[in-house]
Amino acid sequence: MKSPHHNIAILGGGLAGLSTLYHLQRAGKLAGKSVVLVDPEGRKTAHDRSWSFWEAEPGPFEDLVYHRWPLVTVHDQKRNLDCDISPYIYKLIRSVDFYTHVNNVIDEIDGLERIIAKAEDVRAVGEEVHFSAGGADYTADLAFSSLPLHLRPRQIKEPYLDQHFRGWFIETEEDTFDPGRAALMDFRTPQHGEARFFYVMPFSKRRALVEIAIFSNHHLKTSEYDNLLKTYIYNHWTQGNYAITHTEGGNIPMTSYPFPVRDHNLIYIGMRGGATRPSTGYTFLALQRQLLRLAASFPNLTDIAPWPTKHVLYDATLLRILQNGDLPADSLFVDMFASNPPDRVLAFLNGETSFTDELRFMSTTDIGLFGRRFVSEAIRRYI
Ligand SMILES: Cc1cc2nc3c(=O)[nH]c(=O)nc-3n(C[C@H](O)[C@H](O)[C@H](O)COP(=O)(O)OP(=O)(O)OC[C@H]3O[C@@H](n4cnc5c(N)ncnc54)[C@H](O)[C@@H]3O)c2cc1C
Repeated sequence: MKSPHHNIAILGGGLAGLSTLYHLQRAGKLAGKSVVLVDPEGRKTAHDRSWSFWEAEPGPFEDLVYHRWPLVTVHDQKRNLDCDISPYIYKLIRSVDFYTHVNNVIDEIDGLERIIAKAEDVRAVGEEVHFSAGGADYTADLAFSSLPLHLRPRQIKEPYLDQHFRGWFIETEEDTFDPGRAALMDFRTPQHGEARFFYVMPFSKRRALVEIAIFSNHHLKTSEYDNLLKTYIYNHWTQGNYAITHTEGGNIPMTSYPFPVRDHNLIYIGMRGGATRPSTGYTFLALQRQLLRLAASFPNLTDIAPWPTKHVLYDATLLRILQNGDLPADSLFVDMFASNPPDRVLAFLNGETSFTDELRFMSTTDIGLFGRRFVSEAIRRYI
C-alpha cells in the first residue's frame, strides 16, 4: 500500500512547530495544502513554560503578553543597577495562553491532520521527506522538524553549557515586589565557579515568578534548586510567609554548534534549528522573527538562518570564556550593563546592533581576552 502523502509535515508541535503553522496560516500560504502535525503530546494546553523576551515594538503575539516591565535590575555582590531599558520593554507570555490562541488559528486549516505519536526515522529522500509515526509510514513534499537533537558537550568542538533552571510562582502575604521592575540577572548567590543567577518577574506587589538559572554542565537535585530559591527569597525579598502556586523548570542547551537549518526539503526549526541564542538561551523572539520572514517568503526558503553568523561567533567567544572560567560570570555580565547604556546591551543580545555598536560594546570588555578567544573560535569554526 502507498504511504499517506502530505504537502507539509510539522514534526514536533511545541513552540516552533505551532508558530510555523500559525504564521503560514496567517500569511494565507496553506490554502489547498494538506498538512500533518505530529507530536506525542497531542494538542498542548499546559502552562509548562513562560517565555520572556524584550522588544522595542509590539510583536505578533502582543495581545497574549501577560506582563510588561519597562525597568530591569542587574546585581552582583557589590553593584545594584537600575536600568531603564527604553525603547525596549521586557515581556512575558505564558505557554497556556500561547497554545490556546495558536491552536485556535491552526484549527482553521482545512487540510490539517493531527497525529498523536512520535515521528521516527525522519529523513530527506530525493524531493520528499519520509518518516514513520504510530506504526505507519508517511511522506511529505516538505517537513519542518523541531525534534530535539541531543548533543553531548564532549562530542562537539564548540563550547557548550546547559542553562538549567527552576522557577517558583509565589504569592506573598505582604506587599513585596514592584510590578514595574524585573530582576534580569541577580547574581547575589555563591557562584561555585559557574554562572548562577536569579530572575524575578513580579506580576503585582504580591505575586512573582522567581527563578534560579545556572550555566554549567553539572545539574542539581530539585531540592538543591529549591534551597537556593528559599534562601534568596528570604535574604532579598521577604522573611514573611508566601505560597508557591506553580513551579516550572527545564534545561536549555547553550552552544555555538552549527545546527544545520535544512537537509533538502527537511527544514530544522526551533532549538533543533539553532534558534536559541547561544550566550543567553533566549529563543522566543528570534524564532518568531525567523518564522515571520519564512512565512512571508514561502515557498521560497533561501534566507532562513535564525541568527546572523557573526552573532553566533560573538557568542562562541563569550561561552568559551564562561566555560573556561577566564572571567567570573557575575562580574562579566554586570560589567556589560555598568559600562554600556542598557538598550545597547539588549540590542546586542537580540542581534540588532550595527557593526559600530558592536565595536563600542566590545571596547567596554577585556578586549585582549575577547580578541584572542574570538580568533580561536573563528579558526575552530572555519578550519
Ligand atoms: C521551562 C522553559 C522556559 C523557557 N523560557 C524561555 C524564555 O523565557 N524565553 C525564551 O526566549 N526561551 C525560553 N525557553 C527556551 C525556548 O523558547 C523553549 O524551549 C521553546 O519551547 C523551544 O521551542 P521548540 O519548538 O524548539 O521546542 P519545544 O517547544 O520543546 O517543542 C518540541 C516538541 O517536539 C515534540 N517531540 C519530541 N520528540 C518528538 C518526536 N519524536 N516526534 C514528534 N514530536 C516530538 C515535543 O513533544 C514538543 O512538543 C524556555 C524553555 C523552557 C524548557
